[in-house]
Amino acid sequence: MKLPDKKKNFLKWYSEIISYANIVDNRSPVKGSNVIMPYGYSIWESITKKLDAELKKTGHKNAYFPLFIPEDYLEKEAEHFDGFVPEVAWVTRAGDKELERKLALRPTSETIMYDMFRLWIRSHGDLPFKINQFCNIIRFDTKETKPLLRDREFLWSEGHTCHATAEDAERQVRESMKIYEAVYKLCCMSYLILRRPKHDTFAGAIYSIAYDCPLPDGRTLQIGTTHNLGQGFSKAFEIVFQDKDKQNKFVYQTCYGLSTRLIAAIIGLHGDEKGLIIPPYIAPIQVVIVPIYKKGQKELVIKESEKLKKKLLKAGFKVELDDREGYTPGWKFNEWEVRGVPIRIEIGPRDIENQQLVLVRRDKPVPTNKETIAIQDVTKEVKRILKEINDYLQKRADKLLEDSISHPKTYEELIEIQNTKRGFSRVNWCGDIECAEKIKEETGADIRGTREDIKEKPAGKCIVCGKEAKEVVYVAAAY
Ligand SMILES: [Zn+2]
Repeated sequence: MKLPDKKKNFLKWYSEIISYANIVDNRSPVKGSNVIMPYGYSIWESITKKLDAELKKTGHKNAYFPLFIPEDYLEKEAEHFDGFVPEVAWVTRAGDKELERKLALRPTSETIMYDMFRLWIRSHGDLPFKINQFCNIIRFDTKETKPLLRDREFLWSEGHTCHATAEDAERQVRESMKIYEAVYKLCCMSYLILRRPKHDTFAGAIYSIAYDCPLPDGRTLQIGTTHNLGQGFSKAFEIVFQDKDKQNKFVYQTCYGLSTRLIAAIIGLHGDEKGLIIPPYIAPIQVVIVPIYKKGQKELVIKESEKLKKKLLKAGFKVELDDREGYTPGWKFNEWEVRGVPIRIEIGPRDIENQQLVLVRRDKPVPTNKETIAIQDVTKEVKRILKEINDYLQKRADKLLEDSISHPKTYEELIEIQNTKRGFSRVNWCGDIECAEKIKEETGADIRGTREDIKEKPAGKCIVCGKEAKEVVYVAAAY
């Protein structure tokens, strides 16, 4: 098997690898509504496990809200409704009867949740109020779908909070950034935290913060968002609390989401010409043991392999023993490489005699990928190498982000970069949408926003029109 060049033909590489590596099976009957296979789902489980722990640590409680949302609920916040209309899927019929009230399949849950928040929240003692939901989302996008990158049905976590003051809501935005940072770190991600320009703000929000990850082909992928909703929704949904001063006030709200799209970013960011490289701490299988033997040696080698597996399982690692008959060790090596298992252990009769093992790491090229270790040290060595792979992937991702940021000095230079190597271009912008549209027309790239993690002051003029610049922004083409 030879994969397409990842840099030159990323989408082709991506489509083939998610299938070869058993992440997604896209032969399902509805385009954009795919089967996440056990190996892919296991990555999502690792992500949600970490996310769930971080959310609970900060006082969020999990709940479940309905999939069906009546049309008039969606309409309550006008901007929100307009923003989602183009991609909402509707249920209009039940059996052979037309429904009196059209039902939307949730494109996001603000409206259905906030109608309940109105009933649940009474006083300042109920605040802050933090709910999380793990669920599926339906956005019947007419654009071309790509498994996990752009789906019509996907899984996500959505956090929704209510607060007594604008300051508390602002603090919550920072808290959500910390929560996501912890999750992204586990996935060895590297990304920019950008405040979206006004024209790209979430429908109904005061401002939106997004986490944009660079991919090897120069495009970027949004891997999460946080929105400060202010009082727009609480006024529309009448979410009122009695404050300490006995006055009734509207709550301030935030919401944030992180979806299965993160898996696409992990695959795109870390994979190579041989296949996936899954970050060790979210890998479905961290260590695969491949026994190597000739006729008459099988019993001994399998027995030792099983002992080894038990020992590693006991130490808390995710281990698979590949003792399938009818496949050569070489074939197995290749398969586990494609599927991105961080460590492979090779064990044969001579290794057993010498009480040693060969450890092969997925992140490094031949011959630097092999180490011979003593069997008795195996748990210690596996722990060390997993950490090393994790650190190496993080370093490599950080470098990719750094290299992806360009600093064009002229408009022509910006257009040239965004039509060739792409990545993020850091430029001065006047704030006019016409200038953003001009870039978009000529390159397909958008103004993705201003840095939220650091303050940057513009020095110079707008790169498009030459008027006084108001902001330093990052331009990139996104998936
Ligand atoms: Zn301008």
